[in-house]
Amino acid sequence: MKGWLIAALLAAPLAAPLAAPLAAAAPAATAPAATAPAATAPRYSIEEIRLADSIGDSVAQMVIGAPPDQKIDDIYALWLIRGNGRIILFDSGFHRPRWFKEWTIRNYLRPDRAVALAGVKPETVTDIIVSHAHWDHMGGIDLFPRAMIWIQKEEYRYYTGPAWQPGGDHGGIDPEDVTELVRANTQGRVRWVDGDQEIFPGIHAYRGARHTYASQYLWIEGDPPFVLASDNVYLYRNLEEHKPSATFEPADYPANLAHQQHMIDLAGRMERVIPGHDALPFSRYPTQGRIATLRAP
Ligand SMILES: [Zn+2]
Repeated sequence: MKGWLIAALLAAPLAAPLAAPLAAAAPAATAPAATAPAATAPRYSIEEIRLADSIGDSVAQMVIGAPPDQKIDDIYALWLIRGNGRIILFDSGFHRPRWFKEWTIRNYLRPDRAVALAGVKPETVTDIIVSHAHWDHMGGIDLFPRAMIWIQKEEYRYYTGPAWQPGGDHGGIDPEDVTELVRANTQGRVRWVDGDQEIFPGIHAYRGARHTYASQYLWIEGDPPFVLASDNVYLYRNLEEHKPSATFEPADYPANLAHQQHMIDLAGRMERVIPGHDALPFSRYPTQGRIATLRAP
């Protein structure tokens, strides 16, 4: 979640091979003209499920350039996308004990119990799209035993290999999550997303905002369209103040900002770009308990 910036500054290799081409090419290559909605895109409902509250976080670690002494209470969440015969999670939350000692986490509910509040049995989840490999997003993949896991190919490669070698950066990555990811792959339950790709009809993944080595965000077509940014945009403040989210390394700030604009273009309105840890959707959208309905069925 937060606080990887220092580790990244200390450990990030200077010559991350993806940084330059992505920063230069990704926003232009993913201009809205190239991703015009298909006339036949299925209808999906979109819900944000609050897993926990996060107390007293440093804004400056999420909104680069914010005053260093500001604190904010925010949230941990995952997103539930249903339609076209699929039950899809965007991110999977977390449950491993070590992280509860490192962060101030309140009102926690385990992800499999949280989705049950929306009437979803964990074993019926068909797919998990992982935005990035940090503990609070990939840490619940083992709670959904039949789901196919979709992750960027370069994210998989980096965090199962080079991240743990000298000079690698694995800040915020839980070794047990990586083990579960590799185990799922050996069971045939991992699919690599290769750059910008339509994963399901009307659900598009984009790489290049670089919260981690190869993080991804989603554009979900429809009326209205939404972008699920995950931590490629931590808070609405990033969008409102044109400030980068924390990125793999500082050289990625310009690409992150370019992708933020791309997200707004895809969603049509800033309010429909959903940040990774902002509590505001639970007051902006119809909310019952832990569940905000961004788009009804
Ligand atoms: Zn996070």
